[in-house]
Amino acid sequence: MLPIIDNRDVFRDPNGYVIQGSYLCADCTDRADADETHSDDWWPLGVDETDVPNHCEECGGLIFESLTSDGVAYVRDALVRGTGRAEVLATWREAYASYL
Ligand SMILES: [Zn+2]
Repeated sequence: MLPIIDNRDVFRDPNGYVIQGSYLCADCTDRADADETHSDDWWPLGVDETDVPNHCEECGGLIFESLTSDGVAYVRDALVRGTGRAEVLATWREAYASYL
């Protein structure tokens, strides 16, 4: 299973960021180039709901975000069909158990 980055109960900080189009979890953002993290072109993840689970481009971890109804349907469909990498599906099954 992949890491699940979920700081909601710990820091109440975003679980990740989109920085210049790249998805990074909070842990990898801390290690990212300072110039990138100070870019104006970024927004936080884990604050709003998402239609599709997002993974960190550095470590592959799931950046936990609440799911919209479309997101729930997407995850359920992927798990039923078994489409995608097994470790990704196992991670989604664990992270989104309360939705399934
Ligand atoms: Zn990461």
